[in-house]
Amino acid sequence: MNSPDTIGLSFHLTEPQAMLRRTVRELAERHIAPRAAEIDETEEYPEDIFQLLRAHDLLGLYVPAELGGSGMGILGTCLAVEEIARVCSNSPLLLSVHLLATRPIAVSGSPEQKARYLAGVAKGDLRGSLAMTEPHAGTDVANIRTRAVREGDAFVISGQKAFCTGATHADFIVVAAKTAPEAGSRGISLFIVPKGAPGLRVGRKERKMGMRGIPTCEVLLEGCRVPAGNLIGELHRGFRAAMGGFNQARPVIGARGVGLAQGCLDYASNYAREREAFGQAIANFQAVQFMLADMFIGVEAARLLVWRAAAMVDAGLYGKECVRYVSAAKCFASDVAMRAAVDGIQVLGGAGYMKDHPLERFMRDAKQLQIIEGTNQIQRSLIARALLGL
Ligand SMILES: Cc1cc2nc3c(=O)[nH]c(=O)nc-3n(C[C@H](O)[C@H](O)[C@H](O)COP(=O)(O)OP(=O)(O)OC[C@H]3O[C@@H](n4cnc5c(N)ncnc54)[C@H](O)[C@@H]3O)c2cc1C
Repeated sequence: MNSPDTIGLSFHLTEPQAMLRRTVRELAERHIAPRAAEIDETEEYPEDIFQLLRAHDLLGLYVPAELGGSGMGILGTCLAVEEIARVCSNSPLLLSVHLLATRPIAVSGSPEQKARYLAGVAKGDLRGSLAMTEPHAGTDVANIRTRAVREGDAFVISGQKAFCTGATHADFIVVAAKTAPEAGSRGISLFIVPKGAPGLRVGRKERKMGMRGIPTCEVLLEGCRVPAGNLIGELHRGFRAAMGGFNQARPVIGARGVGLAQGCLDYASNYAREREAFGQAIANFQAVQFMLADMFIGVEAARLLVWRAAAMVDAGLYGKECVRYVSAAKCFASDVAMRAAVDGIQVLGGAGYMKDHPLERFMRDAKQLQIIEGTNQIQRSLIARALLGL
């Protein structure tokens, strides 16, 4: 029987996993790397990269084969996401934004919802977005104010959502709303709100420091009517479905961190071999060597945490007993990414501060990973609570 004690003891990727890694690495180096700086600079949604991922059947890696996906699981998704993140931080969002929106459907959705939305996302016919955060409630999800009220065979949703990534391009938005306002987290439900639903409006686009290619927006629900069948899972049980979805998605955030950190290490190592000071390559200086060695240690440790957490999720272990592992993977890998970007810039010296090199972009992008889908403070709290049995 699977348990945290028995997952992650094998260090061999299967042949399909190894092949996926090689294929995505080649695609990323050939097609995505040359576009990365431009996507950041212009803030334009990289439709060409979305179509590239679609053409290579990479959008449904985590979707089961019977629903039209590749059935490569969260580990397969992490392998692909890491390779893309090594060259571009925006492009992995083309996979992970839809993953975040569809996870609650995978956890609690009806067979019809799964067939429609998971299959749609896997084919690239549908794009999703998740609207959980509100202007006054991010970490404190139980305090959201958006309301959903049953009216006949529909729910009417009213409220304001903040920081909704991918909403501009979404065919459906998964919205969290209070259905029993007095019940805190036990009074939240999740709804699939299709594009064009009456009363749904995508509002202001945020001006972000990083991850600039995929817009993050406010979403306004002004008496927005959706059929009762768009409720995901049971009424009032949305918090659990959302948290289950977050737990499954956390290794993927970790993989974005591992890829970003590996990209920083590769770039800084090459630069250190070529840059000369005092008549020799800066790679000869121990101060530079130690920064690179620490980056390597961080990347390797983070990758193992991410793979193990992903293997647990794929084995169905993402409940309470495994929260500490997925949280550790997200938290550690994103901290490693931030540090690798900062140290990478230091290895380059003044050049690292300039836009001619990708490390300042990596630094701006890395910061987001420490904040989204549960800040790293919250991950540490979750780990501690699990350890202490609280
Ligand atoms: C670029 C970007 C994209 C995003 N995309 C989405 C999206 O697609 N969908 C979506 O719903 N949301 C999205 N978010 C929102 C994101 O999930 C929240 O920003 C995050 O959960 C933190 O919430 P907050 O910003 O309200 O911070 P707050 O909750 O106000 O936290 C502020 C500070 O207080 C700390 N803190 C709060 N509570 C505690 C506690 N109990 N213990 C210890 N420390 C605590 C936090 O760690 C943080 O340091 C996005 C955010 C960003 C920056």
